[in-house]
Amino acid sequence: MSNIRCKCGFVISDVSAPCPMKWRLTADDKWEDIVEGIVSIAKGKQDLARAYFLFASESLEVLKCPECSRLLIFEDGQHATFYVKE
Ligand SMILES: [Zn+2]
Repeated sequence: MSNIRCKCGFVISDVSAPCPMKWRLTADDKWEDIVEGIVSIAKGKQDLARAYFLFASESLEVLKCPECSRLLIFEDGQHATFYVKE
């Protein structure tokens, strides 16, 4: 992903890293496994990229529009579902 147009018209770019508009959404029942996996990776002094991959693979990518605060959730990893604050 690089640029996506929000329903308000604002173009969200997630090319910077870290991206202040990019969030991660994780189910509570996956959180413990993620933390244990990251701790295990850290103890083994393994590649930090594996920890990032583990967290990314167990969470959904979310973009928050800075103009309208809509959340764009990528449940299938490719297509955004838009959520607006009520
Ligand atoms: Zn917007």
